[in-house]
Amino acid sequence: MSQSFRSRLEEWKLDRRQFLYATGGLAGLVATSPLQALTEKVTPSFSTNPFTLGVASGDPLADSVMLWTRLAVEPLAADGSGGIDPVRVPVQWYVATDDRMRHVVRRGVTFADPDFAHSVHVDVDRLAPGRWYWYQFQVRGEWSPIGRTRTLVPHGDSPHRIRFAFASCQHFEMGFYNAYQHMAQENLDLVLFLGDYIYEDGVSPTLPRQHDGPEPTTVGAYRNRHAVYKSDANLQATHAAFPWLVVFDDHEVENNWAGPFDENGSAPELFLPRRASAFQAYYEHMPLRARSIPRGPDIQLFRRFTFGDLAEFNMLDTRQYRDNQACGDGTDIGCAEALDPNRTITGAEQEQWLLRGLRRSQARWNVLGQQVFMAQRDFEAGPLKRLSMDGWDGYAASRDRILGTVNARHIRNVVVLTGDVHANYAAELKANFDDPTSETIGTEFVGTSITSGGDGADLPANALTLLAENPHIKFVNTQRGYVVCDVTRRRWQSEYKVVPFVTAPGAPIATRTRFTVLDDEPGLHEE
Ligand code: FE
Ligand code: CA
Repeated sequence: MSQSFRSRLEEWKLDRRQFLYATGGLAGLVATSPLQALTEKVTPSFSTNPFTLGVASGDPLADSVMLWTRLAVEPLAADGSGGIDPVRVPVQWYVATDDRMRHVVRRGVTFADPDFAHSVHVDVDRLAPGRWYWYQFQVRGEWSPIGRTRTLVPHGDSPHRIRFAFASCQHFEMGFYNAYQHMAQENLDLVLFLGDYIYEDGVSPTLPRQHDGPEPTTVGAYRNRHAVYKSDANLQATHAAFPWLVVFDDHEVENNWAGPFDENGSAPELFLPRRASAFQAYYEHMPLRARSIPRGPDIQLFRRFTFGDLAEFNMLDTRQYRDNQACGDGTDIGCAEALDPNRTITGAEQEQWLLRGLRRSQARWNVLGQQVFMAQRDFEAGPLKRLSMDGWDGYAASRDRILGTVNARHIRNVVVLTGDVHANYAAELKANFDDPTSETIGTEFVGTSITSGGDGADLPANALTLLAENPHIKFVNTQRGYVVCDVTRRRWQSEYKVVPFVTAPGAPIATRTRFTVLDDEPGLHEE
């Protein structure tokens, strides 16, 4: 967005606000019930309850949390408006210490702005650390579902435990969110979502569920795609149950995009407007803080969360600042470009931010919540190595710089959490992946998809090759599900939860396996 357009937009917003005040809003503001007056003068009446997309919370700190909802009476309206008139709508919010909203401790009014698809982002501050809160929205007598959220623990505290789940890749068309039906019932402090919240592809009528229309490129079309996903009851239940830390991967924009390039390597001036539309809709549908409001084609997504001195979460963005995939993307044998020491998957600024954070960290467990496979992964039987150019294997220098610092600085208990590949893996991060006897310097847990790829298998066809070619990989499985991490000062435990099918609703949940990492002793132990 050009600067002049931005300032004209600001002027227009100001004019409109003055207009609203002149037509009665201001009178209402000085009356005894300003909110009521504003609501009656300005708010369109809703034909149905506008909280069709549920509620969510996220980016918690020790004293605050973001609350989210979006007003939409007609979530798939062709113009992407959600069927709400293009005016700012005042929305009341309430935060309570009980699940029936009897003991309200914080409340306020915010505006659902048509420029943000009538989404609502409330930064609730002055909360107590490490405790549950419940929240609810109200607009013109219509009430949202009640959500539950939890604050983090402050620096300096020494909590003895954190329990959270991580998930990724929830292709709506591929099946039912059976995994979320069970995740919503788990005992968790937090959920990490590691990318592919939506998929951008067109319609495939033979798949178990259908999303709307063709591949989105405009902000309206991306909004509607998010609205389809957010209409799912199991996804809504999981958002309503826990605060989430979200990062995107590729499909929130376009398959395998890299920095300013789409998957076809089109000129940046062709791709960046699309990226801006996708980021706008992404922000509008996620419980992100104001620093993540997109500025045209740019969004600030990498960020850090600290849970006392027990765990620190470095949420990464390995898409926006990466070099284009080497050797034409896909998998490749002997790609020299992938080894270029100047290549980066994080960009220089994020890399420095991450390394600085790791060096300064006081946390027992240092978590990287990120998108793509970090450990080396050779797909080719025999001495040749076939590597994926979209994962860290295509950016070996980035991996060497980060793992090299972890090794040299003896950074304690680095655990990498990954999505993307629609498979469960557990891997040891080696000083030299080609030498199984080299030092283990960290651990990677890769979580399967929620639905992407369909029902999956306990032992996929290539599993034995992957295990044989990559001795640092200890587990491969492509059943759908999520991973629960139960973390104490003494040990990390990852529990792989799987469902037998996603092509029909109502699957049971089972624990496929558990891996443990001991404090100050990188490396995997299967239980
Ligand atoms: Fe995916
Ligand atoms: Ca090989």
